[in-house]
Amino acid sequence: MPFSWSEIYKSFWSWKGYKPIECDNCGKKHKITATGRLIFVALTVLPMLIFIKFISFFPPFNNFLVALGLALAILFVGSLVTPYFVRFKVV
Ligand SMILES: [Zn+2]
Repeated sequence: MPFSWSEIYKSFWSWKGYKPIECDNCGKKHKITATGRLIFVALTVLPMLIFIKFISFFPPFNNFLVALGLALAILFVGSLVTPYFVRFKVV
């Protein structure tokens, strides 16, 4: 620790979810904390759901493709900033 943005970002997108990162300094595996997972959800899925539930009914967002595009954009932007906020612990 600490890990670079790209190391953390990559760990989010493994299919098993939140893959532990092997540390170059201490050789130990570090896993995202439970709080870190909550932060990840709070910055990605949550804003997307809020958008779908409250905003996507109003023009110009009530077009399916526009809404879908924006929902994905929110997810994407959220995932980009998440590495700055999550913490890791030794497995
Ligand atoms: Zn370490």
